[in-house]
Formats: sequence, C-alpha cells, structure tokens
Amino acid sequence: MQLPSRMYIDGAWVDADDAATMEVVNPANHEVIAKVPKAGRSDARRAIDSAVEAAGKAESMTAYERSKVLLKVAGLLEQSSEEMARLISNNVGKPIVDSEAETARGILTLTFAAEEAKRIYGQTIPLDSHPFPSGNQNRLGFTIREPVGVVGAISPFNFPLNLLLHKVAPALAAGNTVVVKPPSDGPLPALALAKMFEEAGLPGGILNVVLGPGGEVGDEIVTSGKVNAVSFTGDSETGREIAEKAARTNKKVILELGGHNPLIVLDDAKVVNAVSSALAGTFSYAGQVCTATRRIILKESVRERFLTQFEEAVETLKVGDPLDRSTSVGPVINLRSLEKIDGLVKDATDKGARVRAGGSRLEYGELARGNFYAPTILDGVSSKMEIAQKEVFGPVSAIMEASSDDEAVEMANSTIYGLQASIYTTDLARGIRLAKRVKAGAVMINDRTNLRWDNAPFGGVKRSGMGREGVSLAIGELTELKFIVANIAA
Ligand code: NAP
Repeated sequence: MQLPSRMYIDGAWVDADDAATMEVVNPANHEVIAKVPKAGRSDARRAIDSAVEAAGKAESMTAYERSKVLLKVAGLLEQSSEEMARLISNNVGKPIVDSEAETARGILTLTFAAEEAKRIYGQTIPLDSHPFPSGNQNRLGFTIREPVGVVGAISPFNFPLNLLLHKVAPALAAGNTVVVKPPSDGPLPALALAKMFEEAGLPGGILNVVLGPGGEVGDEIVTSGKVNAVSFTGDSETGREIAEKAARTNKKVILELGGHNPLIVLDDAKVVNAVSSALAGTFSYAGQVCTATRRIILKESVRERFLTQFEEAVETLKVGDPLDRSTSVGPVINLRSLEKIDGLVKDATDKGARVRAGGSRLEYGELARGNFYAPTILDGVSSKMEIAQKEVFGPVSAIMEASSDDEAVEMANSTIYGLQASIYTTDLARGIRLAKRVKAGAVMINDRTNLRWDNAPFGGVKRSGMGREGVSLAIGELTELKFIVANIAA
C-alpha cells in the first residue's frame, strides 16, 4: 500500500498553495509519523472547482463502470488490509484488533456500494388515479434518481477509514463527484484510500482530498455555492453550525453527530450479558465511538450484582500500546480530549458521584508518553451532572439508578442526544414496548449500544443527526428524485 504525503486534487498529488504543512502525531507516544500539506481556503476552492469540472466525467460513467471501480478498490483494500490496519492504529491510536475490524468493514462498505450502484431505481406513477383533466391514461409518469452533483464529505477521526467510506462510496456509486475533508488528527487513511481510487482507474477530479483545518477548509466546502450536498460526521455543535451555514446556499445536509447512549438493565435481565455488553460498549476504542455506552441505567434490584461483576470486568481491561494484540483500551486522540474527560469526571465527583474504578489520567511508564485515561466507573451519577448531559468522548461509564420502567425511559431520554440505546430484559414484549418509547435512531434489545451494520439504516434523532447512512440510504440522500411525465396521447 502506498501512502502519499500530498493531497489529491484534480487527479494530481499536490502541496498546499502556500506550501504550509502540518505534523501527524501518534496519540500513543506523541511521535511525529508524517508531515502532510495544510491546505487553506484557496486549496479547498481548487478542489471544489476540480469536482465541478469532473461532473460530466462522473455522469458519463455507467453504473457498471462505477460499480467496477468500487469493487476494484475493495480488492486493493483487501490486499493491503494489514498495512491499513496498522496505519489506522498509528494515526489515531486504535487497538490493532479494532483497526482490523474497521478495515474489514471498509471492504464491505465498498462492496455494498458497488452492488447498490446497479440498483438505483425509480418508480412509475399511475397518473390516472387523479380526478382532474390532468389525470388520465394519456400520461405516463416515472421517476429517476440523478446525482446531486458535488458532495462535500467531512469526516471525524474515530473511524478514519470506514466513516469516510460511508460518504465516498455511496456518493461515487450514485455518480457524484466528491471533495473530502478528513480530520486533521487522522488524515492518513484518506490519502491511502485516494491512492487506491487512482490505481483503480477513477478519472481525475471525481474524488479530491484536501487536508487542513475544519474551520477553513471544511468551512469553504460548507459555504461554497458550488457544492450541492454536505455529508458530515462529527461533533453535534460543529454539525449545528454546518447546517446553519449550508442553509444559506440551500444545500442538502446529512449530519451524523454525537450521542449519549443509555444502556438500561431491567430487573429481569441476564446480568452477565448486560455486563459484557456494557464493557465492550463503554471501553472499546477508549470510548471514542459515537454509539458508545455513556450511561448505564440500573433497576435497583440488579444494581449491586451488576456493579460487582462490572468492576471485576473493568479490572481485566489492558490499557496500552495499540499495536499490542492484547490491548483493549488505547489512548484518546489528543490532550484537549484528555482535559475534557478529566473536567467532566471532576465535575461529577464534585457534585457527589463516587469513583468505583479509574478516575484519572495514566501517567506512569510507557503510558506517560501518550494520552491515556484509566477505564473509569462513576457511580451515583444524576441527570444534573455534566457527565450525564455532555458527550464524554473517553473511557468513562456513568452509573444511574431508576426505580421504575417509566423512570428508566425518562432518564434515557433526558439528554439532547438520540443516537442509539440498549435495553436488557428477558421479557421481549416489555423490551419492545420500552424501545418504542426511547428517543433514538436505533434501539438494541439484549445487545450492545455500539453496533452498526453497514447496509442498515444508521443515524440519530434530536441533536444526534439528520438523515440516514447505510449504503442504499446514503445513495438516497445523495441523489435527487426527478419526476418525468410523457404525454403519450395519439
Ligand atoms: P469534529 O471535531 O466535529 O470534527 C469532524 C470533522 O469536521 C473534522 O474533519 C473537522 O476538521 C471538521 N470540522 C471542524 N470544524 C469545522 C467547521 N467549522 N466546518 C466544517 N468542518 C469542520 O469531530 P471529531 O472530534 O473528529 O469526532 C468526534 C465526534 O464525532 C463525536 O461527537 C462523535 O460522537 C461524532 N461521531 C458521530 C458519528 C455518527 O455516525 N453519528 C460517528 C463518529 C463520530 P478538523 O479535524 O480539522 O478540526
């Protein structure tokens, strides 16, 4: 796998206009692993112009040709999956086993998109089902789906390959051109991916990758009158700003944002299953997953049993080097994030929460070189504490207690977010009744909050998002439905 050190604009590997560069740092040890261009607004405009210019090329590719390129990239990714997984781990500190899983999912996302490229269907509409003179059998009405045009794809650091692919692959499958703005903390997988699209024969200009600060490069994409849709994954506040700005040019906006996902454990739950789900849900990738379990809402009768087992399980987690296959919790992405986690934990303990595990940064031995935070359990959390309201993007579990099903649902719904949720119960009907009352894009019954299937609908309600991903749904979002009527009267 080749890792370019430049940006990809109009089919060429280029530096920033002003030759500015930025360092890419491994969050596990603060070593500089690459130096890449740091673009500004003029570079973003260059990339947008190239995507506008290439629209004709993209539209003239047949569905078969678009599908073939996507499949070829899936094949190239498969060939270099070990290297890609290591790149993800080194760039964003993800444990290698999780990086391998992300790469495997990336291959799947590309394959689904290649398949869906051939299934972008319209409908025929019966126009004689209308009483007025315009409703008669002399007219044939049908819909087709057309590409929106230029898609801005702005992605976060935590799944630097697969979340990008959830934008790029459906956008290309539908015949759009794309300007990608990868995260400054995790830009390398996007460059490696662009190289694969080049090798797969995608004509220049159809896919462009510009690296640089979100406030400049991302903002230029969002505010440009030449970009027709923005697909953004990231923080809810950034998403809100993007939606406001994009409205000025009437862009389509798809937002996949933050979450504060509750896991409810009812009195009849299989506690051992709920514990293993809470463990994986809270601490996978150091809690830096939008669907991570943030709050655990326990019914009184299972509380002590759950907590005893949960504490024991948390003690078995190994924090350390992401490249070590036995590591379960790696570093968080940067010092800013560490400080935010520390602040939220401190606010909770100041307001009466009790630390049952962890509760601080890890600053001894090798861990002192990176951004490590101890897997933490905070007991006695109430909805008034910041940790119960703000997304803590780290390995922290907030334990709350509910005395009734109604109270559990009320607590689950008591944040501005609504991404995913879990309910543990052995009574399926009770689980479904509660699932219908929890305000979230997806509710898992007897399963983890942090699950996603790449072909299934994915997205949040409330401040967790707008629109849906999942390859065929993203294609729906990134196409325009055109209605055509033919008067076929003799
Ligand atoms: P972020 O800070 O919002 O950044 C996301 C992307 O937006 C980055 O590429 C960033 O560029 C760019 N950006 C920042 N400010 C911008 C602006 N004003 N205009 C346009 N683009 C801008 O999010 P993050 O810290 O990378 O990711 C973590 C967040 O993403 C969490 O809230 C998490 O829950 C959410 N997330 C949601 C999902 C989902 O599918 N719902 C999935 C994963 C993550 P820079 O890196 O250069 O700042």
